[in-house]
Amino acid sequence: MAYAYDDQNIFAKILRGEIPNDTVAETEHTLAFNDIYPQAPVHVLVIPKGPYVCFDHFAAEASDAEIADFHRVAAKICADLGVAPGDGGKGYRTISNAGEHPVQEVPHYHMHILGGRPLGRMLQKTD
Ligand code: 5GP
Repeated sequence: MAYAYDDQNIFAKILRGEIPNDTVAETEHTLAFNDIYPQAPVHVLVIPKGPYVCFDHFAAEASDAEIADFHRVAAKICADLGVAPGDGGKGYRTISNAGEHPVQEVPHYHMHILGGRPLGRMLQKTD
């Protein structure tokens, strides 16, 4: 695996405090903030603080502590924002785009948490 992390990406700038963000949760290893162009009433981005480009990079190279913290933060956000089905919410979708085909816009690993309205089926077939 060969990933080169670009520390000029927008989320790296957010992590350095160079660009403001609407923080939802923050821990030692993880930051979560509202998406600037929300696609649903709940649209939170969860990012590790470490320099990982996408999911497989993070899952392969981050420490167990970073990986556990990331997922615990994401799960707590689902519960806190009232979308977790286990807490009576109507559900949510997590999305993580990596690379060209899914059109990853920002090359710092992030998980989208979307909810608060019906989201339709996962993918539309285009051919
Ligand atoms: P991707 O296409 O990489 O999976 O998603 C990138 C997401 O980052 C998009 O949903 C976009 O709206 C969001 N985004 C891009 N720039 C900013 C920013 O400066 N602040 C915040 N909060 N979100 C951003």
